Amino acid sequence: MSSSVALRLPSIDGLLRHPACAPLAERYGRDSLLTGLRQLLDELRPGVLSGQLAAVEIGAEVLAGRVGERLAQQQRSQVRRVFNLTGTVLHTNLGRALLPEEAIEAVQMAARYPLNLEFDLASGKRGDRDDLIEGLIRELTGAEAVTVVNNNAAAVLLTLNSLGARKEGIISRGELIEIGGAFRIPDIMARAGVRLHEVGTTNRTHARDYQAAIGPRSGLIMRVHASNYSIEGFTARVPTAELAELAHAHGLPLLEDLGSGSLLDLTRWGLPAEPTVRQALLDGADIVTFSGDKLLGGPQAGLIVGRRELIAKIKKNPLKRALRVDKLTLAALEAVLGLYRDPDRLVERLPSLRLLTRPQADIHAQAVRLQPLLADVLGEVWQVSAVEALGMIGSGSQPVARLPSAALCCRPQVSKRWRGRYLLNLEAALRGLPIPVLGRIGDDALWLDLRQLDDEPAWLAQLAQLQVDR
Ligand SMILES: *Cc1c(COP(=O)(O)O)cnc(C)c1O
Repeated sequence: MSSSVALRLPSIDGLLRHPACAPLAERYGRDSLLTGLRQLLDELRPGVLSGQLAAVEIGAEVLAGRVGERLAQQQRSQVRRVFNLTGTVLHTNLGRALLPEEAIEAVQMAARYPLNLEFDLASGKRGDRDDLIEGLIRELTGAEAVTVVNNNAAAVLLTLNSLGARKEGIISRGELIEIGGAFRIPDIMARAGVRLHEVGTTNRTHARDYQAAIGPRSGLIMRVHASNYSIEGFTARVPTAELAELAHAHGLPLLEDLGSGSLLDLTRWGLPAEPTVRQALLDGADIVTFSGDKLLGGPQAGLIVGRRELIAKIKKNPLKRALRVDKLTLAALEAVLGLYRDPDRLVERLPSLRLLTRPQADIHAQAVRLQPLLADVLGEVWQVSAVEALGMIGSGSQPVARLPSAALCCRPQVSKRWRGRYLLNLEAALRGLPIPVLGRIGDDALWLDLRQLDDEPAWLAQLAQLQVDR
């Protein structure tokens, strides 16, 4: 629109005094409102000058409405709850393990009140934060001592640097793994100041390979759990017990990075076998490192357990101070570890274990129940079916094992050339819900694996808001 009558933007002062803006000042504060109004007017100015905006578009009420929307958007938390229906239970991008109620309560307590983080209540003297969980760790793993850091990557870095700096770390070529893009054993070794001495081959490494590598420059032998891939076929791996014997005969420590670090034998719940921390220590590993938020089912943390004098050395490293855990993590970790003292009730109390062991029949029944509701909302273009599906544990645990599950499978009933677009639009619409719903696309369909749909009421409550673009 071009007009000979020059349009003018309302003044900031006038807008601030306008009744439509008063509630916004009340709600978001005068400074935020002022900033929002200034930004908006700056954006509109060119349109006014060129005559492309109509008078109604710059009325005080309209502007107040637009600023209000913007302020609401800005105030909304960036950290948001989602529904993880991807089929991957311990999803690194979605926060891995969910904490049990006991841990949530412990975190609240630690957040709200002062606590004995580094204070020994018995003696009244300064304490050590690791001591808060040392008793539990010793009981649950048989380790002599423990120290806790930010995550397992930090645990590996700190251990290598403390025990092997300026020396050689001997490791099998089959264990030089990369995890999640940025964590690569050779790079971590280099950053830790340990010279990589790789031995054997990708598929087969023998005791004699390690033996031949041991020399005056050797500092340690390392073993890494091949978390996110598996080598099958013509393979050979030296049992930990044998490797420990070899290491000890030469006065070297054996480190084992277990990754997931299960505290109990998971096969008792029908899950795939994972090496346990206790077994690794029994086999002779001197130090074992593992994550707090993978199969353990706790907060993000890296646990370093093992021989007392080695742990003492690790704790003296100045890097420990840079990598230490905070009080919230320790509070959660202690509560989670406490649940392990009663394995019989663990499956009811630890969410990750409960979800991992949820029977397929249960999940399928839920899919059958929800199928007509989703079909109804999506309309005729979509064929929605309750089907069996295969999920996975995630976070590098058992990369080839699949968890028998069930899903709502949504297939667009359109010609092949349009299917991709329909699927992406549905995926975006689900992501756009107040609590975003995340599934996965595969085989010309969008799959919502229901293993982790605990809060069905919240999921159903927002279903009516689903609007899929065509
Ligand atoms: C997952 C994993 C790590 C990294 O652990 P974070 O807790 O994610 O830092 C290191 N090593 C192995 C073998 C792993 O599986």
